[in-house]
Amino acid sequence: MFATEYETTSSSSLSSRRSSTTTLSDACLSDELALIECIEIIEANVEDPIINKANEKEKKWWIDGNYKTIDGKKLPLILMEDVSYDEFEKKCERANASKFWEYRDGTVIIIELPMRDHEVAHGEFADQFKEAFYNLPRQDRVRNIGTTTCYASGRKGRKGSKKQSDVSFVPKGLPNPAQYPSDPEGNPWPTIICETANTQSLQSIIQKTTQFWLAPHRVEDVIVLKLWPWNSISDQNKSPLRRLTCYRFCRRTSPRDARGNFQPVHAIEFGTIDSKNQPFNGCSALGRRTLSISPDCIYKGCDRQNPPLSPFPLANDVVIDLFYIQQEIFAVMKKS
Ligand SMILES: [Zn+2]
Repeated sequence: MFATEYETTSSSSLSSRRSSTTTLSDACLSDELALIECIEIIEANVEDPIINKANEKEKKWWIDGNYKTIDGKKLPLILMEDVSYDEFEKKCERANASKFWEYRDGTVIIIELPMRDHEVAHGEFADQFKEAFYNLPRQDRVRNIGTTTCYASGRKGRKGSKKQSDVSFVPKGLPNPAQYPSDPEGNPWPTIICETANTQSLQSIIQKTTQFWLAPHRVEDVIVLKLWPWNSISDQNKSPLRRLTCYRFCRRTSPRDARGNFQPVHAIEFGTIDSKNQPFNGCSALGRRTLSISPDCIYKGCDRQNPPLSPFPLANDVVIDLFYIQQEIFAVMKKS
């Protein structure tokens, strides 16, 4: 699209550069490939094949809450079979595992492990998102309801119909009780959520996004941060070579496929390699890879103060700098 180079060769810090230079057009091409890859997954519409079953040691997560012996490379992993939904719910609460386990027809599957890179990725997203609201009156801000459980039917008791996200934001100005509640207390659905998939496959997180979060009358924008497997290789600057990709789904502006499933508006590479395992330095400094979230999506469902002309309390898009998220992820990876 644009041929402008990100890095000019006149700077004096040549030695500290990575081996190849990513131009803006290269970065656009990497994003384009990531978008095509994601759309193919949505169109294929297949579930992850699950072949591994937990051994006695791994079943300890179910029995006493200990997951330390589980190898992330074995996921998705069948934890237990022939379990009733009530029992699944009870165990989930006890082990604080709703984000990490999935229930499918009597089978409990581990899809994600509680890891530090997973936690810091959406933690940094949440910090940056909230900063955009600091100067607003309290009633115009958003509430971070974190990993609160949302119910497909707005009430308890329906099989496989409740999910948690990693981060979720609800504008304080939304009507409550809501016309389409997210829980038995009548609370509204969050408008913006962020999900991190580390050991969870892209297929699995995309399916949750398109089938659950973006079903009618639910979430507006879903931000997915996919942390691809790291093979423990770093570059000469000791920066890990790892692919990281951000996808933004938007109910207002996302294209939809023939089945009606939402596709991402953007895929943005923000790691140090791309989908072809080629070095990628399009995200090697602040401001290069950013994600914009519109007030139209954040405040969806809130009354404008002076309709129809007055804008929402926030004049500009919330801009998330993906470089900070990359740096947070890399910082905890190096220590582990
Ligand atoms: Zn949107």
